[in-house]
Amino acid sequence: MDYFNYKNGELYCEDVPATRIAQEVGTACYVYSKATLLHHFNQIKQAFGVLNPTICFSIKSCGNINLCRILAEQGSGFDVTSGGELYRALQAGGDPKKIIYAGVGKTDQEIRDAIEVGIAAFNIESEAEIENIDRIAGELGRQAIGAVRINPDVDPKTHAKTTTGKKETKFGVDIERAERVFDQYRGLKHLRIGGIHIHIGSPVYEIQPYVDAVKKVTALIDRLTEKGHRIEWLDLGGGFAVNYKNPEQAKPVTEHAKALIPLLKGKPYHIAFEPGRYIAGNAGILLTKVLYRKTGGAKQFIIVDAGMNDLIRPTLYESYHFIWPVKPDPKNVIDRRDSERLPVDGEIVDVVGPICESGDYLATERALPKTQRGDLLAVFTAGAYGFAMASNYNNRPRLPEVLVDGDTYRIIRRRETYEDLVAAERV
Ligand SMILES: *Cc1c(COP(=O)(O)O)cnc(C)c1O
Repeated sequence: MDYFNYKNGELYCEDVPATRIAQEVGTACYVYSKATLLHHFNQIKQAFGVLNPTICFSIKSCGNINLCRILAEQGSGFDVTSGGELYRALQAGGDPKKIIYAGVGKTDQEIRDAIEVGIAAFNIESEAEIENIDRIAGELGRQAIGAVRINPDVDPKTHAKTTTGKKETKFGVDIERAERVFDQYRGLKHLRIGGIHIHIGSPVYEIQPYVDAVKKVTALIDRLTEKGHRIEWLDLGGGFAVNYKNPEQAKPVTEHAKALIPLLKGKPYHIAFEPGRYIAGNAGILLTKVLYRKTGGAKQFIIVDAGMNDLIRPTLYESYHFIWPVKPDPKNVIDRRDSERLPVDGEIVDVVGPICESGDYLATERALPKTQRGDLLAVFTAGAYGFAMASNYNNRPRLPEVLVDGDTYRIIRRRETYEDLVAAERV
């Protein structure tokens, strides 16, 4: 469900034609829909409503402070993974009391800053980190609060690079060792460990991995409680998938909720989630323009003005993003985005960028309507891990971001300039 639809034969973002944004802002650019962002945030809130969970938007998925501010105004907290993300969350108006901080490699300075602003909790990844946070909080004369991230050893059945809850990954404390860790660090002076955290991977298309993980950690909490440890909250992380290929690909969060609520209802601890992709994924598209058509030795290429530096997911994770012309020939106007749909009089192409790498593609072997130089293409479901993972590789200024709200839009991040590219080097 989103607000990027074809009306009168062309793509609209809510009530603004994509062509208008492309003309006025230039291409390539990221375009977000406020209504779509809010829809998905509220969908999670309502689906898990009976648990009254805290929702901490995963800022690494899409960090523009103007987008994060919209979520903060709805009561969202933030899940941060670095000092930079903590800064971003605060700049967006995030309430420190709803900020949780994850990550296997927090530096002393990052820990100090987080304690000083009074974040809700650290999600702690190792024994060494427990000791370090306790030490730093002691130096500051403060008490830090933390949850232990548990590695529940379940397979989320997603890409290896985004699998985080299996034994062989670097994340969390092995569930077999968790009780010993709680016993060992009982009654620290400057760190109160009151929660359990998991994040099994992303994107998770199936419900069963969550069910397996929740069963394992709720049983762990029962054992810990019996031993006299007080667990006040359980943070289930993020990972809910979105529809990259067609509207049936990912389970709506309501389905996850149906399976998880019975396992969690009535528990004496609070529940938190850290969704990123589910909230931001479908709320953004990448608008790009065809620069050239090129017939290669073995393939037909469509060369566009967005590259792997702007959207790295296809080459990094072999991800599929649905791509379609903004103003297709009338016989190719679509009412549904479906990877199975074949264009009329189409062609099989690789959609590639201008970067000097063979991995610089947005799509390979893709059936698309025929396009010409100057045509606009929309790359859908690019709101999460799109701009957030962009770089300046090949000295390409990063793209502008545009936020549509009804029939108006505004630029929420300006296009970078050439001077931006060298500014930090003038030392
Ligand atoms: C990346 C991450 C998330 C968000 O994952 P999504 O798939 O975007 O929902 C949540 N928690 C932690 C600890 C993460 O690393």
